[in-house]
Amino acid sequence: MALNTSHTPGTTRPADGEVLVETVALTKSYAGADGELPVLSGIDLQVRAGEVVALLGKSGSGKSTLLRCMAGLVPTSSGTVAYKDTPLTGANPGTAMVFQTFALLPWLTVQQNVELGLEAKGVPAAARAEAALQAIDLIGLDGFESAYPKELSGGMRQRVGFARALVVEPDVLMMDEPFSALDVLTAENLRGELMELWESGQFPTRAIVLVTHNIEEAVLMADRIVVLGARPYGTIRETFEVGLDRPRDRESAAFDDLIDRVYRTMTGRHKEGRLAGRSENAEHDRRTPANTPLPGAGVDGLSGLAEMVLHRGGRCDLADLAEDLGLEVDDILPLVDALDLLDFAHMSGDDLLLTPQGTAYAGADVQESKTIFAEAAPRAPLVKLITSSLAQNPGGALRAGFFRDLLAHHYTSEQVTRQLDTATDWGRYAELFRYDAEPEEYRIDPEETPATTPRKE
Ligand code: ADP
Ligand code: MG
Repeated sequence: MALNTSHTPGTTRPADGEVLVETVALTKSYAGADGELPVLSGIDLQVRAGEVVALLGKSGSGKSTLLRCMAGLVPTSSGTVAYKDTPLTGANPGTAMVFQTFALLPWLTVQQNVELGLEAKGVPAAARAEAALQAIDLIGLDGFESAYPKELSGGMRQRVGFARALVVEPDVLMMDEPFSALDVLTAENLRGELMELWESGQFPTRAIVLVTHNIEEAVLMADRIVVLGARPYGTIRETFEVGLDRPRDRESAAFDDLIDRVYRTMTGRHKEGRLAGRSENAEHDRRTPANTPLPGAGVDGLSGLAEMVLHRGGRCDLADLAEDLGLEVDDILPLVDALDLLDFAHMSGDDLLLTPQGTAYAGADVQESKTIFAEAAPRAPLVKLITSSLAQNPGGALRAGFFRDLLAHHYTSEQVTRQLDTATDWGRYAELFRYDAEPEEYRIDPEETPATTPRKE
């Protein structure tokens, strides 16, 4: 799809640096079963004219929540969001949003969908039509004005999403994972076109805020990458100034180097990481279900990763491995977190390195691997909690609701479900306990002994 790029080559964006959106000491919590659950804490962030800011973090780190607070779509719990120095009291008048799921009205044509934003602003019909046609043209939708969303491919639908946001000429264009529902090639194409437009200076907005969980996308598109971390709730973990020439060269050493640095921050394995010489036991003692959430990684997945690392000599560069599998590094992060938690592997620089236990596990037959896994699984605090609660209740059973209630003090119900799923998968595989989905009950049969008695950590 050719772009309508009639711009002068070499024009750069006016980076006048005016602060357009600013958050000060922003916190946000949602009501949980057990009081307020913090999602974001102490967020100080400025978005300036001329820049593309990426909010990067794993799922659940609060990226979408932060973006919605900045757009004034949800209120903050404390702290402020301001647009050009004026604190928000409702929707941010300087922003428009592009959503992952396009959010188009199926009964309206492309043009009518694009005009929606202007209708809300009370723009007269003739002016609306003209502005919509311009936005449609700009974003490469010429000829589709009277099509309905269902006639369009995913990529074309998202173009409508972009046109609808751009037509109001917002100071700040906000995008929440706008490419993640698209296939790889379509996403790549749309990203490229969007950045070309942005660089050409004919983009009718002055700044872009992009939410993504994809490190490479952030490094490709952003001037500044704000990494959000989720332990125990969303804070800014680090900010990176990208400073690479545009268009970005994925093959360059500088590009690679930045990906590695951002990756290390996202996984929390830089200086204060586990490898920095802290006592393993001291670390294990401090772990609780509240401060050490379980990653969303099943036994099959983490075993598969351990085996692949073993095939590569027990050590391999994570980015290379992901590439060979046709995956993004982020896709395998939960598995890496799981191996790390179980002490089966740790990061060493950019490499994932199997421990002696991990090596034994990856090389073992099914029965042996169950035994090794049963020794390692209680390193996951939630698995240990379930196992020891059952041990104090021999022959008895415990409802999943019991653990749900305990966790509800610290996590949202979605997170609780995800973690119990992981703990159940691990504990069952290790034969530390049984689980019945009806009626959601954990138990140890008195006549059966687990594959191995859980070792006292
Ligand atoms: P991200 O976009 O980084 O995946 P979100 O901002 O969507 O993160 O969510 C952060 C946390 O807040 C998650 O644990 C999520 O379950 C919780 N959360 C998000 N929206 C709501 C809501 N409306 N009510 C309750 N909890 C929510
Ligand atoms: Mg999100």
